Amino acid sequence: PSKTSTLIHRKEEMSAQENRVMALSEWEDRWQEGKTGFHRSEVHNLLESNLDKVVCGRNEVRFFFPLCGKAVDMKWLADMGHTVVGVEISEKGIKQFFAEQILAFNEEPVPAIPGAKVFKSTDEKISIYQCDLYKFSSTVGGKFGGIWDRGALVAINPYDRQKYATLLMSLMNNDCRYLVDTLEYNPELYKGPPFFVSEEDVKNLFGGGCDIELLESVDAFEEKHKSWGLGSLTEKVYLLAPKAQ
Ligand code: SAH
Repeated sequence: PSKTSTLIHRKEEMSAQENRVMALSEWEDRWQEGKTGFHRSEVHNLLESNLDKVVCGRNEVRFFFPLCGKAVDMKWLADMGHTVVGVEISEKGIKQFFAEQILAFNEEPVPAIPGAKVFKSTDEKISIYQCDLYKFSSTVGGKFGGIWDRGALVAINPYDRQKYATLLMSLMNNDCRYLVDTLEYNPELYKGPPFFVSEEDVKNLFGGGCDIELLESVDAFEEKHKSWGLGSLTEKVYLLAPKAQ
């Protein structure tokens, strides 16, 4: 085949969103401009309904929140006696979290990550690292017994997904339960973020290291999705557990 036809063929095979890129500065701009429509003022319903399957009767679970924003779920888990570590690039978002939750905090540099800071509630139950997620590792933050991934796998740039999955799996203890929230909609109609993540994507990304169970699939279509040009949107939550060695 000619070079041109090969290119056209490849283009057809690529998903509509594969080349979409959000720079870190664009996220910071969203925080500065108050364009944080992803934030919810209530605890997420799918975390609430599936929490038992993550906690599995354990006390004081160490939870990881990738791309945490100012998720109120962090405070909710800390109030239950768990500890939470989040990673978020926007200092403004982190400061809003502590202010809105009325939590006193301390701010320290992170020697292992140049330029990074960690914001810790004074009771040390919640720590939020202000840095690029890909600079974070188990060397910096240890491993975790639970992960809540909402607005994270669906928010990262699609071409970073394998790197993201490898990092997240490296943060899981053997008894870790990782709850991941995904969105399915027609990616030809809206460019994202949040990006479309299929069941097949989840299997390809995490199936090598984890057993995967689809826990819930709900119609999550809201008024705002109409302005995105969509007519339907499904939210699916999966439970990932490290495969027995
Ligand atoms: N999980 C939160 C926020 C979702 S929006 C919620 O559900 O409300 C995605 C967040 O990730 C934004 O706050 C953005 O500032 C942050 N972010 C995006 N890319 C990042 C990266 N590479 N490292 C750290 N934070 C990032």
